Amino acid sequence: MSVVGRFAPSPTGAMHLGNARTALLAWLHTRAHGGRHLLRFEDLDTGRVRPGAADATRRDLAWLGLDWDEEVVQSARLPLYEAALARLDTYPCTCTRKEVQAAIQASAGAPHGAEPVYPGRCRAGTAHPGRPAARRWRVPDTVVCAHDALTGQTLCQHLPRDVGDLVLQRNDGVFAYHLAVVVDDGEAGVTDVVRGADLLSATPRQVALQGALGLPTPRYLHVPLLRDYRGERLAKRGGAPPLSALREGAEAPGRVLAELARSLGWLVPAEVGLDDLLPLWRAELAKVGFSTNLDDLSKLP
Ligand code: GLU
Repeated sequence: MSVVGRFAPSPTGAMHLGNARTALLAWLHTRAHGGRHLLRFEDLDTGRVRPGAADATRRDLAWLGLDWDEEVVQSARLPLYEAALARLDTYPCTCTRKEVQAAIQASAGAPHGAEPVYPGRCRAGTAHPGRPAARRWRVPDTVVCAHDALTGQTLCQHLPRDVGDLVLQRNDGVFAYHLAVVVDDGEAGVTDVVRGADLLSATPRQVALQGALGLPTPRYLHVPLLRDYRGERLAKRGGAPPLSALREGAEAPGRVLAELARSLGWLVPAEVGLDDLLPLWRAELAKVGFSTNLDDLSKLP
């Protein structure tokens, strides 16, 4: 058994330096273990997909030297998600976002600042049988924990209280990210998920879905998001400069790699190659006592 890693961009816009840093770390992790690396385009939310974004991402990655062994496009795999959905205990939900918000506000336990938790209005039958229905997963009444191998953090969530019955298929038929990511990582045998720290809070529900579908839980390494000078995370919608501008402006990829490495606090010269960065990622893993032994995977909760 060897490491299988992946980078899973959403082709919703041009890749920026923050996406590039996550892509770099995912690649370094897989290659530092001599593993197989996948590129997966998460393009299910067709309304947000931008034409040409996947192609530009492929070019950006290739320019930085971040190669991949296999490419997966989620929109070509709908039957897989359909089959997984059919195996889960779901119910149709016709509540609009507005109604859900109103119900949350009316309930005594309205969360402060936390993400809204669906109060389960449609559990006993759809509220509006005539409307197109989303499908929600009736989450098990249990606590699920996710461990982060990079930070050592363990995040536990009580599914009904902290997460709520999640939508796995929207009322327009679009399968939810949480379902697709779990099905895809499981089907590809992904052992190590290196991704942005913004997804840590979504990990327990993904671990819960893995459990319900009988899929193994990979190791998770959530890497910090790149922030701008105001301390705000770079965002495609926030106008972060696209990587393609550097590529097309004839910047040297080795200089971009060096900047990304320096942003992580790594001491590198002004221009580096990927081979120079592999030992630095290995050193990061050694610092946190990351085990290269995949047998440990079977011992995870
Ligand atoms: N597609 C997600 C994103 O671009 C990443 C999902 C994941 O790595 O699990 O933010």
